[in-house]
Amino acid sequence: MSTIRFKAIEKSFERKPLPIEAGVKRSEIYGANVFNEQVMRQVMSKEAFNSVISAIEGGVKIDRKLADEIAAAMKNWAMTKGATHYTHWFQPLTGATAEKHDSFFEPINNSQAVEKFGGSQLVQQEPDASSFPHGGIRNTFEARGYTAWDPTSPAFVYGTTLCIPTVFVSYTGEALDNKAPLLRALQAIDNAATEVARYFDKSVTKVNATLGWEQEYFLIDKALAFSRPDIVLAGRTLLGHSPAKGQQLDDHYFGSIPDRVLSFMRDLENDCVKLGIPVKTRHNEVAPNQFELAPLFEEANLAVDHNSLLMDLMDKTADKHNFKVLFHEKPFVGVNGSGKHNNWSLATNNGTNLLSPGTTPTKNLQFLTFFINTIKAVHDNEELIRASVASATNDHRLGSNEAPPAIVSVFIGSQLTKVLDELEDVSKGKLSPQEKTDLKLNVVGKIPEILLDNTDRNRTSCFAFTGNKFELRAVGSKSNCARPMTVLNTIVAKQLMEFKKEVDTLIEKKKLKKDEAIFNVLREYIKASKKIRFEGDGYSEAWVKEAQKRGLSNSKSTPEALKAAISKKAIDLYEEMKVMNSVEIKARHEIELEEYAHKVQIEGRVLGDIARNHVIPTAIRYQNTLIENVKGLKEVFGNDFKKLAPEQLDLIEEISNHISEINSKVNFMIEERKNANKLEKAQLKAEAYCEKVLPYFEQIRYHCDKLELLVDDTLWPLTKYRELLFTK
Ligand code: ADP
Ligand code: MG
Repeated sequence: MSTIRFKAIEKSFERKPLPIEAGVKRSEIYGANVFNEQVMRQVMSKEAFNSVISAIEGGVKIDRKLADEIAAAMKNWAMTKGATHYTHWFQPLTGATAEKHDSFFEPINNSQAVEKFGGSQLVQQEPDASSFPHGGIRNTFEARGYTAWDPTSPAFVYGTTLCIPTVFVSYTGEALDNKAPLLRALQAIDNAATEVARYFDKSVTKVNATLGWEQEYFLIDKALAFSRPDIVLAGRTLLGHSPAKGQQLDDHYFGSIPDRVLSFMRDLENDCVKLGIPVKTRHNEVAPNQFELAPLFEEANLAVDHNSLLMDLMDKTADKHNFKVLFHEKPFVGVNGSGKHNNWSLATNNGTNLLSPGTTPTKNLQFLTFFINTIKAVHDNEELIRASVASATNDHRLGSNEAPPAIVSVFIGSQLTKVLDELEDVSKGKLSPQEKTDLKLNVVGKIPEILLDNTDRNRTSCFAFTGNKFELRAVGSKSNCARPMTVLNTIVAKQLMEFKKEVDTLIEKKKLKKDEAIFNVLREYIKASKKIRFEGDGYSEAWVKEAQKRGLSNSKSTPEALKAAISKKAIDLYEEMKVMNSVEIKARHEIELEEYAHKVQIEGRVLGDIARNHVIPTAIRYQNTLIENVKGLKEVFGNDFKKLAPEQLDLIEEISNHISEINSKVNFMIEERKNANKLEKAQLKAEAYCEKVLPYFEQIRYHCDKLELLVDDTLWPLTKYRELLFTK
């Protein structure tokens, strides 16, 4: 084993789990570092408290004087938690979170100072964050970017900093972040869903989208991870032969959690709980050293913030425990990658889950209304959903027989399929009394019963109904959930608006009763959205063919998938729903393409480097040993040596062949990179990286991995898969 590898492995074996904090009751520390309603009630005047609540519930602007009071209360509370600084915490289009810390501390003269934090600092900041991607927005408009307080997501103390969740917008109001469009989409779905929910319950005044994400990740010993330049720079392995044992025995899945990992998880969960992230489940995932963490669901904006915060916290906690956490969707070939299922539903202010069948026919008609409208929305906008999960890293996962394919389809299970089939036969116009009774008793009335024992689960579907929510499974583990959540809520909002219009028209013009009108519109939706429904095996070749026949999109790569995000249809939709204007849409598209090209470029450089500087020199060293050996044999045995050393001679030749293949492929790849870099248009550049550069990765890797199998293990410099994946 090479010294680098040996040292890393030795270090990883020395590591002991950090001690676990004993006996903390989670319920007692829950939200301890969050400036939540309960705290606000205690530390502010009634007037200030009410103004925050009206801002949260109705978007009412907070009066300047009250903002000062709120800021002071926030600062005083945060200082009791050890905070010395504050930051506007935001989510720029890099997908990560950003912070710029300012201290409360402010000298008033040479010898005196105070801790200060006023309303204006709370409400708005102008960070000099000009290096974040902006897709041209800030050139075209105004260089300044502002962060503005989002009171719907409570402030929290993280380390020694008071973090205030904010949106990040340009001077002219264009969104430069992930949160602003999400908040607008959530407003749109609130408006549209509330109107529709009021058909069934007049007391509904607000509808919240809910999100419960499930975060998958890998944990690798820090020393081992840092011994691999590809993991350090690209977050994944660019080469490495698969180990003799992978995940075929399924012995990791739901298995007992190793002590070191458990100690990491407990530490992480304690911090999560203090930050108000309601973490609930943890378990081993399918691949070795792969795990999952899932919280209880929350209002979508808060859930997105919590996921972003969690990823940051995981990074830090892993470091403390001498691990490196990998969020990449496909860090290792040959074993499963990681995703982030987004469970989504709609909840009213009365606490009703609109995607949960109820106990009465009315409740069930309400369920069917939201259920069918969601399916119709996905049917009409499947390409947009695909675009919302597209990234260079997620391309390695979608469609590789472990994650949903790049084709979007909806799975609802056999029982609900039957219900929709029956509803499809509802007569046009007025319903006969017999039909009404029938629907009430046999179709709508039966739903809760059948769902209770509906154990239908289809893991191969992209968008599956799972009893009382839909689960979008195509989201990448590294993604910010805001992107898919913005799309999903926007398309369903638009759909619900259409629905309302159609039902009202039938009621007014055709004089139908409300229920009749609803049945009539739903019937047409069921017919119109059939092609998106698929109950079979989403991983199969047959489905790819069938989907093509149905006219569903199947964009395998990000540059192709992203086209849907700037189609006229998408721009019209976003503008109508006031989620994004065309400048924001085009800027985002540009940023996503650039990010794609950059990612492939970085990986290409790293791969070229490793192949040339690590693999080839090592192969040559080993080849030299073989040559020495052959020379020695020739010295001893004279011309008979050939009979004695056929393997050595073959190996020498084989190694030469691999080396020359690697060399020429790396050269070609570099040429293609140069060509790609010359292209000005983001679309063309991304396509060139995808179609011309990327294909070399696999070819280069193939020969490197072959060499890994041939070369003396004591010489091989890169930590091997078995070491990365099976060290605990
Ligand atoms: P699995 O998908 O692994 O079988 P569950 O069905 O128990 O697991 O739920 C997975 C996730 O669904 C959890 O994170 C949970 O918070 C979320 N979830 C449950 N109900 C809702 C809901 N109404 N809205 C959004 N997410 C939900
Ligand atoms: Mg799930």
